[in-house]
Amino acid sequence: MDYDTYGSNAVELAIDLANCDRGDPAWVRAFVASHDDWFTDGTALRLTDAEAARVDETSELIRAVALADSEAAVKDRLNALLALASPRPYATDHDGELHLHYARPDAGALEQLTTTVAMGLSQVVVQHGWQRLGVCSAEGCGNVYVDTSRNASRRYCSNTCASRSTVAAYRARQRA
Ligand SMILES: [Zn+2]
Ligand SMILES: [Zn+2]
Repeated sequence: MDYDTYGSNAVELAIDLANCDRGDPAWVRAFVASHDDWFTDGTALRLTDAEAARVDETSELIRAVALADSEAAVKDRLNALLALASPRPYATDHDGELHLHYARPDAGALEQLTTTVAMGLSQVVVQHGWQRLGVCSAEGCGNVYVDTSRNASRRYCSNTCASRSTVAAYRARQRA
């Protein structure tokens, strides 16, 4: 599958955000700190409580898009997600290659994050189909993923879950 690099990375950021363990209220700040290379240099990464709540809502919506089982539901949830973002396309060659960013470099951290994940996820859905989003089939996992495999055959969020499930299936066969 041929994703443009930034777009494909942006959807991985969206998936990372959707798969956070949101039980600990400090999770948003931890997420932003561990993904600081996504923000333009000099961006203040300290979010207010209201901004952190927005990120929490964004995470929930990405997950809802991935869990949706009809195109109508995907469309509604994507539009709810896009409504949180204010894209301001910006051409840049900061990595040596001319490409578009979805947020201006001087946008605040919240806007950079919500805009990037909302646009990244939307681009993949409209270009490659909403069926490319799925939920991990490994028992007890529940993470979402974007399937970038050529034949759309992905079933697990990670190699760890894939091999764990292969081993479990093998043991079940041995017992049978
Ligand atoms: Zn870039
Ligand atoms: Zn998994």
